Amino acid sequence: MEQRFDYIIIGQGMAGTLLTYLLQKRSAKVLVIDKHNPASSSNISAGIIHPITGRRKVKTWMADILIPYAEEFYAILETEFEEQLYHKQNILELIDTTKDYNDWLMRSADPEMKQYFSGEETEGLYNNVITSLKKISLTHCGWLDVKKLITHFRKQLVVNNVLLDETFHFHDLNTNENGITYKNVKAWKIIFCDGWLATQNPYWSWLPFLAAKGEIITIHAPRLKAEHILIKNIFILPLGNDLYKAGSNYEWKELNDMPTQKIKDELITKLKQLIAVPFEVVKHEAAVRPAVQDRRPLVGLHPKHKNIGIFNGLGTKGVLLAPYFANNFVEYLNGEKELNEEVDVKRFK
Ligand SMILES: Cc1cc2nc3c(=O)[nH]c(=O)nc-3n(C[C@H](O)[C@H](O)[C@H](O)COP(=O)(O)OP(=O)(O)OC[C@H]3O[C@@H](n4cnc5c(N)ncnc54)[C@H](O)[C@@H]3O)c2cc1C
Repeated sequence: MEQRFDYIIIGQGMAGTLLTYLLQKRSAKVLVIDKHNPASSSNISAGIIHPITGRRKVKTWMADILIPYAEEFYAILETEFEEQLYHKQNILELIDTTKDYNDWLMRSADPEMKQYFSGEETEGLYNNVITSLKKISLTHCGWLDVKKLITHFRKQLVVNNVLLDETFHFHDLNTNENGITYKNVKAWKIIFCDGWLATQNPYWSWLPFLAAKGEIITIHAPRLKAEHILIKNIFILPLGNDLYKAGSNYEWKELNDMPTQKIKDELITKLKQLIAVPFEVVKHEAAVRPAVQDRRPLVGLHPKHKNIGIFNGLGTKGVLLAPYFANNFVEYLNGEKELNEEVDVKRFK
């Protein structure tokens, strides 16, 4: 029997979840097709929001707009889902050299960045358990329990009978001017939120993806007692119950979700240089981030097939980017607003 929807969304990671949520809020009828993968980027993500990033430690793109937007968005989801999802937590940048410390002090005096420095006294913090002497505390940071969010939302989709837990096959898709047909389903539009697998998507693989595999370990460290997110060349994220996520690395060639002994050893070595307490690795995961060469999301409709869209390219910052740009996309689809030019797929010819 033929079924009719407004949208079919392919993929239920961060991108597909937030887009579906916002479309449903506008009363759209949405069918989600997602082959569950416990090793998706979203399922293993650390979920950190960090206002000052990159090798040069500059203010994150659009941070002043995106951070408050994301904080408010996740607060609304928490009320609706009756679960804590976003954990506001200061970041402690761990610093070894006087030069690096002075660079941080200069940033803290910059009117553009000032608001991200908490002013918290850090001298006495964790002196017995971490090796760095200098620390700088940043605010407007935190982490989202991404897995909890998408798992909760998935249950709602199942209850509403609008989730197909299966692989989407391109040869079953037909498009025409009035919409699309997939097997026995007709819809107005299909939007791909398929993460790094978009590199194999016949409609979107021409976009300049720069997918990057990352590995992450979870450790049990009962003597660490950290309440900040600790960052140096890796991050240590307190999850509660003496558990911490630690990572990560970037690998652009071997793209798969298989954890490797080599990276596990590297992460352990870096951890041992950073913390002076024993720990045990209790989990080790890997996934591929859907990153893009120009480090901006990929949002919009196909240049030839107007009923085929994409919401992707969230890269290393899905938690920060997804709320604002999912909303921008929904407003665009409803004819209310233009897409932000920097994320519109039109920027690539
Ligand atoms: C180790 C690591 C650490 C990270 N840490 C952070 C962090 O601290 N902060 C942050 O903001 N971001 C972080 N990220 C990045 C963040 O996780 C991503 O930006 C985000 O998860 C991307 O979400 P997505 O929905 O685009 O892709 P995905 O999570 O990959 O979701 C895509 C979904 O589509 C499904 N799919 C694909 N093709 C098909 C098909 N043909 N049929 C059916 N289903 C299909 C997949 O199974 C998957 O469920 C991290 C990522 C990694 C790997």
